[in-house]
Amino acid sequence: MGSKTKAGSQEFLKKHVLDKGLCTGCGACVNLCPYQVIYNDRTVQLHKCDLDDGKCYSFCPRTPADLAALRKILFESGDLTPEIGAVKGYYFAQAVDPALRITAQHGATVTALMELALAEGLIDAAIVSSRSRELLQSGVILNDKDAIRKNAGSKFTVSPTVAAFNQMVTHEGGKVGVVATPCQALALAKMKLKSLPEDNAKINQLNLVIGLYCGWTLSAEKYTKLLREKNIVAESIKGMDIPAGKNVLEIFTNDGVRTISLEEVQHCIRDSCNYCIDSTAEYADVSVGSARFAGEWEDVRNWNQLIVRTARGKELVDLAIQKGILELREAPLESLNELKAAAAGKKKKALKNIVQKSGSTKNLLYLDDRDPVVLKYLGVEKKIRKRR
Ligand SMILES: Cc1cc2nc3c(=O)[nH]c(=O)nc-3n(C[C@H](O)[C@H](O)[C@H](O)COP(=O)(O)OP(=O)(O)OC[C@H]3O[C@@H](n4cnc5c(N)ncnc54)[C@H](O)[C@@H]3O)c2cc1C
Ligand code: SF4
Ligand code: SF4
Repeated sequence: MGSKTKAGSQEFLKKHVLDKGLCTGCGACVNLCPYQVIYNDRTVQLHKCDLDDGKCYSFCPRTPADLAALRKILFESGDLTPEIGAVKGYYFAQAVDPALRITAQHGATVTALMELALAEGLIDAAIVSSRSRELLQSGVILNDKDAIRKNAGSKFTVSPTVAAFNQMVTHEGGKVGVVATPCQALALAKMKLKSLPEDNAKINQLNLVIGLYCGWTLSAEKYTKLLREKNIVAESIKGMDIPAGKNVLEIFTNDGVRTISLEEVQHCIRDSCNYCIDSTAEYADVSVGSARFAGEWEDVRNWNQLIVRTARGKELVDLAIQKGILELREAPLESLNELKAAAAGKKKKALKNIVQKSGSTKNLLYLDDRDPVVLKYLGVEKKIRKRR
């Protein structure tokens, strides 16, 4: 495991996460105290604090944690796979309502499930990402269906969504559902593992996590610069996507569709994403990504991949089918295997980058080399270590 020094939690967070370029911008350390804030898309420490075991340190997805223990608490052991975490079911899915699909990123599975959870009283509020200005996002706490629908669609810059969860649970405001990227879902899961007894009731308000697959997010500063070079006005952007097999970022603007090659976008990816081993939001109740199957992209893009991970996730998906909200298709084993191969690839690449950054296979920064999943994908680096 990485250094365990705890010379004050915030100091550790600054030295080992923020200054090391590992901060994912998830927002889990924000709204817990006055010292950690979001400035544009960066997390900034305003003041030193010498609290030894602060929540910021405990909840951050880039501080060491016993992920094997976390998986054991959250999931059934028979469901666990090394590549993509727990799988109770794997499907292609889409919202039945075509009007909802038009406003959403792909099949609107995320928004349909969140709306249903709210309507059925599984949650009293939903936390989703909302565009605050230009390319910047923030988490918003919503308790009506229209507002959730209004915030459908993917924004490829970071959203400090977990900060909104912290804001909400400072008082007991009922059950909450959160739409989370993998790093955000991990922070929320760590809250369950590491919350102090007096905070349990607040954390237990978290009743649902809908995870998003995630390849990377973009630095707002670098992406703004790239858009300027391409004469794309940020305010005119209505949405964006990465169509299967085309190797481009499609940007939907008020003036039509623009494309930028993924090679050109590459340098805008946030540093921290290079050290991320999770592409499918393994610590969520269900995870949703874009579908990949043979056919015209215009048809395929109306579907999602859906992984059901927990009993709560299954209950919600079953209800969505029963109520005619969601349509499911059995996904072939071939698709699941492709997903697993891609996810394993991300893990291997991230571990390689981690070893390169730390300079040693003995220091995996925030990861623990006794974790069987980490061990499996450490691969070549681990063999080198054994020979030493
Ligand atoms: C940064 C990012 C990277 C992604 N990378 C991949 C990928 O590599 N492969 C893949 O298959 N899918 C990826 N996705 C997921 C994909 O874009 C869709 O979100 C997913 O297919 C669900 O589609 P939907 O129609 O059900 O979503 P919708 O019903 O449109 O709902 C999308 C939800 O995501 C929330 N959201 C939007 N942007 C963000 C953000 N930046 N952070 C947190 N929440 C956000 C919205 O508030 C909304 O609640 C990524 C998503 C994001 C945000
Ligand atoms: S909790 Fe999230 S926002 Fe805060 S330092 Fe860690 S990764 Fe960054
Ligand atoms: S790639 Fe990983 S670190 Fe980057 S935004 Fe996605 S989940 Fe977070």
